[in-house]
Amino acid sequence: MSSTPVPVPDPTDALSSVPVAGFRRGTPAVGKLKFCYGPMDCGKSTLALQIDHNHARQGRRGVLLVRHDRSGAPQISSRIGITRQAVEVGEGTDLRLLVRDRWARGQHVDYLIVDEAQFLSPEQVEQLAELADDAQLDVYCFGIATDFRSMLFPGARRLFELADELQPVQVEVLCWCGLPGRFNARVADGEVLRAGDTVFVADTDQPKVENSPSAHDHPDAITVRYQVLCRRHFRRGELGPQSGEQGQLRLT
Ligand SMILES: [Zn+2]
Repeated sequence: MSSTPVPVPDPTDALSSVPVAGFRRGTPAVGKLKFCYGPMDCGKSTLALQIDHNHARQGRRGVLLVRHDRSGAPQISSRIGITRQAVEVGEGTDLRLLVRDRWARGQHVDYLIVDEAQFLSPEQVEQLAELADDAQLDVYCFGIATDFRSMLFPGARRLFELADELQPVQVEVLCWCGLPGRFNARVADGEVLRAGDTVFVADTDQPKVENSPSAHDHPDAITVRYQVLCRRHFRRGELGPQSGEQGQLRLT
């Protein structure tokens, strides 16, 4: 049959109607990869659980994932008291295989929610993009953008590069001066640390103990905490008048 000049809807035309069912060439069904980011304790986990709740109410099936969980029992927990079981993602976990394994067990997966997504490897972020494109999964990642040096985490960097949507989570956390807190300062002995391991070691027994090079020098590991600061006070290393008490956020 010779090619007939059937008018093909142009999906890039904003005025074109919604594609009819079965029309897949112009607008293939794909999932979305979304990254919601913000400083510690800004409400990311609460938002993650809210999105999960909204999808589940519509009968969609999701899997909750968490990277680098320190609790020993993988879960996503919010400050408002809601907790959901999650699947721990290891360093070498192939997220595509994780989803295929669910399929093999007859489980439907419509969406993924990933907490602590900054700790994903760049390869794992690419796997999430592949799941969105090829398996039509909606993937919601939640995490911190920058580490204690104010540099992007590798996983967060890859998410910024690949995500369909980027959403800063409304900052509820304030620096001691009242400005929005945007940087997670690593603090020990009243000093803002500028060097050390980017990723703290997950230690379920002693979550506040930093396994840093200096910790190796001393038999007693140093106690490290994190404090959210505005850019100016992060740059200056100024922790405020009551740095040991107010605004302190423990690494939990
Ligand atoms: Zn400040």
